[in-house]
Amino acid sequence: MKVAVLAETAPGETRVAAIPETVKKLAGLGAEVAVEAGAGRSAGVSDEDYAAAGATLASRAEVLQGADLILTVSAPEAAALAGAGQGATLVGLMDPFARRDAVAGYAGAGLEALAMEWMPRITRAQSMDVLSSQSNLAGYKAVIDAAAAYGRAFPMMMTAAGTVSPARVFVMGVGVAGLQAIATARRLGAQVSATDVRSATREQIQSLGAKAIFVEGVAGIEGEGQGGYAGETSEEYRKAQAELVSSHLAKQDIVVTTALIPGKPAPRLISDAQVATMRPGSVIVDLAAGAGGNVEGCVAGESVTRHGVTIIGATNLARSLPADSSALYARNLFNFLSAFWDKEQGKPVLPDEDEIVKGIRLTRGGKIVSERLA
Ligand code: NAD
Repeated sequence: MKVAVLAETAPGETRVAAIPETVKKLAGLGAEVAVEAGAGRSAGVSDEDYAAAGATLASRAEVLQGADLILTVSAPEAAALAGAGQGATLVGLMDPFARRDAVAGYAGAGLEALAMEWMPRITRAQSMDVLSSQSNLAGYKAVIDAAAAYGRAFPMMMTAAGTVSPARVFVMGVGVAGLQAIATARRLGAQVSATDVRSATREQIQSLGAKAIFVEGVAGIEGEGQGGYAGETSEEYRKAQAELVSSHLAKQDIVVTTALIPGKPAPRLISDAQVATMRPGSVIVDLAAGAGGNVEGCVAGESVTRHGVTIIGATNLARSLPADSSALYARNLFNFLSAFWDKEQGKPVLPDEDEIVKGIRLTRGGKIVSERLA
């Protein structure tokens, strides 16, 4: 069983799909691990570190030659994987809806493609959940970036020269990223409030010491919503939410938005007119920028100023913490592979009827097999 770990080629990708710890564990399962030279450089892992963990370092062509399993972060096109073994399994982030041609390419090349971002959100798969591990870091980094762009301090400071008041931070969308944003802003000493459409988040917000700002009297999403995710809200709810947010926003210094609805554009939570009510010098970090943005005027991948307010269109913030994001991603991958590892066959065996396999398998035997892509 040969496992190939590739150096990433996608623009801006800083992460790597294996770290020395997971290489050692894969070798412990009996796999032969080949790592492309330089693969860990941007994540702070040297070739020597991989070699010491038991990997063979080689060129891309040599690493791919006869590989049974190819580990990637941002999966490259099939054409960049020539030389892999017949029916090899490709694991990575595939962005399947946006990259349908690439998925068709995997099928055409006879690869079995597994999209880690489609890992079902079930208890058994929690340790394999790459969206959670990367969102957690993104939520942290959003607050750090906001603090860096903000011309004031976060904590209250009582000094001989007078008092510095604490920053007021508002987090909109309290999933994995939002919870970490609340916790990080609290650690920095800010006064934090947060909102979500899922009523189940109210207690989570309060348990982190933040104030829960909720639309009262109009149903949002009861409990957890479908699969733990939010759905779209009613027109009546959106109107009530906009009014509530308007009065609250004008008093905030920092806003972090993270609201996403799977398979839909990001909901618009802040209008340009609402941005205009904020104090100049305030900062908004929009973590949904890549999905269309929660904030009007937000530009994905850029920082713009509207009405004196800095709006950061954050995309893929986990990439700016490459050592940690790689380590968590690599462990997610290992946890997935080891859960399906068959000791006798010395490789992972993926049963067709397994909920995890059904969720993440895109192609097999020359065909696209994912129901979501049908
Ligand atoms: P997400 O990234 O899809 O969305 C972020 C947040 O935005 C969500 O909390 C969502 O409710 C909220 N949102 C959507 N529309 C909104 C609106 N109009 N206004 C305000 N907020 C809005 O979510 P996520 O971080 O991936 O997590 C979603 C849920 O899944 C959470 O309950 C999380 O705890 C759960 N989860 C479960 C597992 C597991 O059991 N394996 C793993 C990870 C996450």
